[in-house]
Amino acid sequence: MQAHPHTEQDELKVMGAKCYQCGKCSAGCPLASQMELSTSQMMRQLQLGNYDAIYRSNSLWVCVACETCQSRCPQEIKIVEIWDTLRNRLFADKKLQRKYATKGAVRHILLAHKIFLSNIYTFGRIFEPMLAAIYNLRSGDLFKDASKGPSLLVKGKLPLLPHRINGIKEFQRIFKNVEKYRAQKG
Ligand code: SF4
Ligand code: SF4
Repeated sequence: MQAHPHTEQDELKVMGAKCYQCGKCSAGCPLASQMELSTSQMMRQLQLGNYDAIYRSNSLWVCVACETCQSRCPQEIKIVEIWDTLRNRLFADKKLQRKYATKGAVRHILLAHKIFLSNIYTFGRIFEPMLAAIYNLRSGDLFKDASKGPSLLVKGKLPLLPHRINGIKEFQRIFKNVEKYRAQKG
């Protein structure tokens, strides 16, 4: 499934066009010190249409969507919405994934995202043991967080058997409809 590069990118550029680089977003961002491009620098790259710089930076993946930036923005730019759209484009576009998400933290984030959605699709809710097992297998980090398992089990925080929600068929139909919608949009 491919994103619709031109229309969507143009929409994002329009959203970012109001930015006049005051820097208030970056100044308030609690994760600014961890970002390769600050929020205002990301916004500038967006205005320039330089998506390569945006996807090569770690900033999209470090952001925790706390919304401090957009609450400070004098232009009321929906910064988090823009970042969400950029992340979703990558999640939906295999070409972008091959270019930007084959290694490092982005690869793991993408993997976790896919396994999370597949888990939700199957059960209508998270079944943590399966989620963790598949993630560990596919990431190659076989024993990641394994030491936490026993204490979580003892505290009753880790279910042994999956539980499907009522109305799972309807729930899965919503998933499929969203997929169809995205395919048509792309
Ligand atoms: S939403 Fe993201 S970019 Fe904005 S302030 Fe929070 S962490 Fe920083
Ligand atoms: S606060 Fe708003 S106008 Fe200022 S740099 Fe950030 S996005 Fe641009």
